[in-house]
Amino acid sequence: MVTPVPLHATYVIAVGDELLNGRTSDTNSTTLQRRLLRRGVRVAGTEVVPDEASALRAALSRLPAGSLVLVTGGLGPTPDDLTAATVAAWGNVTLTEREDVTRQLRELCEQRGWSFGPNMVKQTLVPAGLVPLLNRRGTAPAMCGELGGRTLVVLPGPPAEIDGLWPDVEDWLERSGRLGPATASVRLRTVRIPEPVLARETAPLAAAHPQLAWSWWLGRWGVDVQASAVDGGALPAGLEADLVALLGDFVWGRDEEELPAVVVDALRACRRTVAVAESCTGGLLGAALTETAGASDVFVGGFLTYADAAKQALLGVEPEILAEHGAVSAACALAMAAGARTRLGADHALAITGVAGPDGGTAAKPVGITWIALAGPAGAVTGRFRFTGDRARNRRLAVAAALDALRRHLRDGCNPFDAPDLWR
Ligand code: ATP
Ligand code: MG
Repeated sequence: MVTPVPLHATYVIAVGDELLNGRTSDTNSTTLQRRLLRRGVRVAGTEVVPDEASALRAALSRLPAGSLVLVTGGLGPTPDDLTAATVAAWGNVTLTEREDVTRQLRELCEQRGWSFGPNMVKQTLVPAGLVPLLNRRGTAPAMCGELGGRTLVVLPGPPAEIDGLWPDVEDWLERSGRLGPATASVRLRTVRIPEPVLARETAPLAAAHPQLAWSWWLGRWGVDVQASAVDGGALPAGLEADLVALLGDFVWGRDEEELPAVVVDALRACRRTVAVAESCTGGLLGAALTETAGASDVFVGGFLTYADAAKQALLGVEPEILAEHGAVSAACALAMAAGARTRLGADHALAITGVAGPDGGTAAKPVGITWIALAGPAGAVTGRFRFTGDRARNRRLAVAAALDALRRHLRDGCNPFDAPDLWR
């Protein structure tokens, strides 16, 4: 039986000038925190340091002996990539060439027609005592092992390379007894419920299970709720069903599922296609649908009609509708959806027209007012939403509401806009 390390002993150090001048957000730390937490390891602290050897050395020395330290960034070929040399100097070991890394990089260079120059040689050097994990999405390997009284996992900076390396890192951590059993947890993803309402509605269940760690947070499409068993315990039987019973239709997925993928899968299951017509979201709905691999099975295409003239020319919205009701109106949304559906020959069409803000609101049509329409073989329906975020959030919530409308409709043929907008 492997004893997990104490909770206070895991740290992340992110290396890079670009993380300290506002150009790049340090998402590697949060990614690592999330991945480790799934394996029962809570990160106790995260530090961002510049591309300076002294800063990285000082950060490593500050951490308690016995800690597990994950370092990201600065493993690449350029002169500002100092991590491997700095770790070696800090641990008082030499950098040694690793044959397996050399072989892999030589093969890569041959395949790509690159020369195997000093830049490549630099990336074959690993601090003595650390083992390299080959990087299939880049060049610099990850490096793991005991050094300077700490357990080190040194990773390259590009997030995609960390994703690619993670299964091998997890294996290595498991073998060295650094990971506990996977944390049992349930995460349900909702749409169209405000965070305080979701927290209020789930509070009795949370109170009934105080032994679990509960969290509520704003995800990409709506609010997520998660309950996790702490210290390797199990989840109570039926907990997920109890949560779904409380939240009903507002739940669209669990764990790492994404709303567009849920909609694409639902369309594929019933062999239907969809087209889109977008105004205030400027293509975000089409982009969301097409971020799912295989979307071409169900997504026909769309129209980006921002100006009234584009709504008339591309979708056939009647000038009388625009003159009488304006572009942000039920009539315009319905005409946009009907136009997209017939012009692209899709089974369904979604249309979005609204005032994303921060300007352009009026007393009758304040910022956040958005009409979403869904057209299908049996006709078109529309619903009015009032989003209260900033411009970026209002646009994303409009996309979420449109996807959700189609999701509900595909499930049982209902008018999805009959569901309440804000929950009580
Ligand atoms: P490369 O071979 O690409 O140079 P590297 O290991 O040297 O890899 P860095 O040079 O530190 O890594 O970073 C490369 C890129 O990876 C950065 O420009 C940035 O886009 C991204 N990156 C680095 N660190 C982080 C981080 N902590 N969070 C998110 N992205 C990061
Ligand atoms: Mg670099």
